[in-house]
Amino acid sequence: MGFQSENIEEYHDIWVFCEQRDGKLQNTDFELISEGRKLADERGAKLVGVLLGSDVKGIASELGGYGADKVIICDDPALKVYTTDAYTKVLCDLVNDKKPEVLLVGATTIGRDLAPRCAAKLHTGLTADCTHLDIDMDKYLDFLRESSTIEVDPEKFKMDDTNLKMTRPAFGGHLMATIICPRFRPCMSTVRPGVMKKSEFDQAKADACELEMYPVSLSEDDLKTKVLEVVKATKKMVDLVGADVIVSVGNGISSDVQKGLALAEELCDALGGGVVGGSRVAVDEGWLSDDHQVGQTGKTVHPKIYVALGISGAIQHKAGMQDSEVIIAVNTNDAAPIFEVATYGIVGNVFDVVPKMIEEIKAQKAAK
Ligand SMILES: Cc1cc2nc3c(=O)[nH]c(=O)nc-3n(C[C@H](O)[C@H](O)[C@H](O)COP(=O)(O)OP(=O)(O)OC[C@H]3O[C@@H](n4cnc5c(N)ncnc54)[C@H](O)[C@@H]3O)c2cc1C
Repeated sequence: MGFQSENIEEYHDIWVFCEQRDGKLQNTDFELISEGRKLADERGAKLVGVLLGSDVKGIASELGGYGADKVIICDDPALKVYTTDAYTKVLCDLVNDKKPEVLLVGATTIGRDLAPRCAAKLHTGLTADCTHLDIDMDKYLDFLRESSTIEVDPEKFKMDDTNLKMTRPAFGGHLMATIICPRFRPCMSTVRPGVMKKSEFDQAKADACELEMYPVSLSEDDLKTKVLEVVKATKKMVDLVGADVIVSVGNGISSDVQKGLALAEELCDALGGGVVGGSRVAVDEGWLSDDHQVGQTGKTVHPKIYVALGISGAIQHKAGMQDSEVIIAVNTNDAAPIFEVATYGIVGNVFDVVPKMIEEIKAQKAAK
């Protein structure tokens, strides 16, 4: 097979690989379809969801409700549970046949396994862990003006570039890099769960979504691994991405970790069904398991209320929480960078301030 650089003008449409687990679509699918809609409109292209699984036709049209014009379904018992061999073969066959210009994949555990395999087989580039995507040059320049220190000279940047512009943190989050893949197709990107906003579901669009069944060609030789049994971890993972209230703890609780965690739990309850998160220090020190980590190498969250207790606000932490609706920070150091993004900043000791916060919230609730 020749490299995809020879005929890139044959590649059209924006595709999103839509992940299902146990026959259920994932939140990342809806986020990526919503973002893909924006890109497809910028490019004047179709937005296509790609769904692999067994007996999954019934769930496909929901993707239309978030913006997909069409869903291509590859249905086969061998695709019921994810395996690298089967999914890579089927997705690459599909790409080689239909030639999408862009292929977005969620940076989930499955996406992080599948996307690089496919990129290598298709001989194209992959930008991993993106946090921002553009196609339209003017929109990209607006993004640079809003979020960077670059002086955007309209003359210097005057160009009609229709490549997907894939932005991701680089050098430990100290700078953002925008990467393009001009010579190969499809332009492939994995996107961090929780970063892109899900649009409103529209039933009429779901009903109008076109579904295409695509024949799967898999032989015994294609399948080098066989899933005998799926054993799920009994530990319930904390759902930070979907939480409305998150109370995170950092190194500031180190003088009495148990008390700090108990206060965070109590504040969660007082605020109403919140969940406890943490900085990388809290996870590295073993105070919380790694599914609690917020930040560049943890989860990206945008709850209604984010409380940062004894967290300095390093750039890598802020990358994961600064889009929260309301941020409340408690820190003994009035110059802590967390106060730069805080809606309300309280300079004080966590162990003194938090009990007062809990008391006041309870009193306000009782008064109502
Ligand atoms: C590649 C890379 C990826 C990273 N990814 C992440 C990530 O995903 N998430 C993340 O969080 N970090 C990440 N980090 C680490 C990050 O740079 C910081 O080291 C980390 O966020 C610091 O955690 P912290 O704020 O809890 O601790 P510290 O920086 O030690 O801050 C503790 C804060 O608590 C305050 N304090 C101390 N005592 C009290 C008290 N009693 N009451 C109130 N305040 C108090 C201090 O003033 C200080 O501001 C990453 C780093 C790298 C290089």
